[in-house]
Amino acid sequence: MVNAQDKEPCVLCGQPVEITGFSLTTSDGEQKFCCAGCLSIYQLLNKDNAKPTITPLLTTKK
Ligand SMILES: [Zn+2]
Repeated sequence: MVNAQDKEPCVLCGQPVEITGFSLTTSDGEQKFCCAGCLSIYQLLNKDNAKPTITPLLTTKK
């Protein structure tokens, strides 16, 4: 299994996450997404464990 340029895959669609910031803290930990669309879809699918805390572009980059 190849790790594509050490980028984390989008939790929803599996594509490499190019932009940090679309993350969601859930009871399972921090989930990362490639775009706002995937994030919102994940929230819809996981209403039970997804907390409404979105961290836009506040995560440490380096
Ligand atoms: Zn995605």
